[in-house]
Parts: sequence; structure tokens; C-alpha cells
Amino acid sequence: MDVIIVCHTEFGFVSNGEVIYDKAVKSGVEEGVKNLISLADKYNAKITFAVCPEVVDYFPKNIKHEIGLHIHPGYARYNYKNFSWIAGDLYLKENCKQSINSSVLKDYSYEEQLDMVTKGRNYIIQKLGMDPKVFVAGRWSLNNNTIKVLIENKIAYDCSAVAHVRSDHYDWSKLPRISMPYHPDASDYQEKGNLGMLIVPVSQALLNGIVSPESTIKYGLSWIKACFLEYYKQKSPLFHICLHSPSMTDAHLLSAMEKFLSFISKKENINFKFVSEIKEYPEKTIRGNILPYFFAGNYNILKSGIKKVFKIRNEQYHRQNNI
Ligand SMILES: [Zn+2]
Repeated sequence: MDVIIVCHTEFGFVSNGEVIYDKAVKSGVEEGVKNLISLADKYNAKITFAVCPEVVDYFPKNIKHEIGLHIHPGYARYNYKNFSWIAGDLYLKENCKQSINSSVLKDYSYEEQLDMVTKGRNYIIQKLGMDPKVFVAGRWSLNNNTIKVLIENKIAYDCSAVAHVRSDHYDWSKLPRISMPYHPDASDYQEKGNLGMLIVPVSQALLNGIVSPESTIKYGLSWIKACFLEYYKQKSPLFHICLHSPSMTDAHLLSAMEKFLSFISKKENINFKFVSEIKEYPEKTIRGNILPYFFAGNYNILKSGIKKVFKIRNEQYHRQNNI
């Protein structure tokens, strides 16, 4: 099984297990990246850093891991609990034409998306000396124009898919929860097609919990381990972990990541890879399997998970039968 780890690299810190994306806190990049590299090197894991252009001056030079591109458009104040911060990339704001002020890429025209991705890519090349082949859209939000723009920039991998989920700013609802990399269709990025790039969805646990050390706050580490076993026992060709760099400045989340990597690395036939080393795998259906979650110990989550599974099955049945 191939295992990839994608780190959205941005400023910020952690409060009570939650990432607060405060631009004033540079340690989210400086310390977070350093700590994650140390951890990865200990377990021979490989990290793909999806780097925001505005953070490059704080990103370590000459690392042995992969560098991709992460784009947060717009520039607006964001309030959450007692915190307040500016969301949006300062470099892109100062160097790109943005006719609107939206935090989601899909709201922008093709020309404006092309401008942001091209300038972001060139800035990463200029400052970090690596041409990004991997992309992550801020807030998981993209559209067919984004895919076109990525292909024009020779970016061959997108890691923005949270399968089976839709919100007001992104839509990945057509993908099954357990989804493997696929070539998208030009007329619908959620459909399989023949475009020359791969969409590589993030692995997700039952209840659509993204596989990340950050999810252990809500679901518990055992839940995420159960998800790994769900994939591993069915010989899934790929397992995709994602996280945000500020989380690696927090002792609790660092410890969760270390325990998770230690757990994975003890299994047989695990190959840690960079995203750009991934190829499309032969077609294989990996079914949702709730058994590993029985041993995860979080019975309240399990109970609601089972209800949800039956609800989804019911929906699928209705969809298949057009009712
Ligand atoms: Zn981000």
C-alpha cells in the first residue's frame, strides 16, 4: 500500500486542538514544517508540502521532501470563537488581479484563476527552486476551470478532494467516501475522464472524518487507525493523510501524528511516497467496512456512524433504482 502525506503549509497556531490560521504566528510554518520533517524522517515517511506563496520566506530551504502549491484567494477578516484573522494569501493579493473578494477559487473567472496559479507557481520556483507538480485548493474549492488552469501549468496532481462531501463552497459529493486517484473529465471534475492529470482524494473515515492528526480531537486516534485498517485489510492501493503545518507545533497533535506513523510503519508492504510518485492504479472496488471501527472503542461515534451508513446505503439504493 502506498501512503502519502500532504501538508497544507500556512501560518497559525493551535488552540484546544483547533488550528487558528493567524498570519502573525510564523511558527506555524517555521516550527511546524521542521517538526513534521523530523517526524517523517524518523519513520522514513515522505511529505508533500502544499505551500502558500505568502509563506515561502519562512519555509526551510533545500529540504528532501516534495513542494506543491496551495492557493487561498481573496483577503478578508475571519472570526471564529475568540479569534480573528485575515484569510487569503498576501502575495497573491498584491500580485494578481482579483475582481471579487471571495475565499474560494471556484468563484473566480478562468483568467483570474490562471493568473493566481501561474504567479503562485512561478514564485515557488523562484524562491524554493522546485516546480510544483501538486496542488491543493484552499477550502477544498475548485471547478472545471481550475483543472484546466492546473494542466496549463503542468501541475499533474490535485489533492483538494474530500470525497462524498458537499458544502456551500465545494462539491465532491459524487465521489464515494473511499475513492482512489482518477483522471477527471473536462466537463465535470467529479467524473472520470481522460484529462492528463490525477485527482487524488484524501482518505476518509466512516462519518467522513478526514484522515488527519487534527481529526483525532473529534474522533480519537483509534478511529483514524480503524480507517487505516479498513483500507489496508482490503488491500487498498493508496492511503492519503492530510494535515496543516500549524498542527505540528502542538504537543498533543504531534504525539497523535507520531503514534499514527508508528502504527502504519509497523505494517507490511507500506510504501511512503510523494504525491508525484503516484500513478493511476488498476480499477479496484474498496467497500466501506465498519468492522475495524468496532474495535476503535468510540461507541457513540460508531452508533451514529452505523445509522449514517444505512442512510447512505438507502440513498444509493434509491439512486440506482431512480427513485
Ligand atoms: Zn489552506
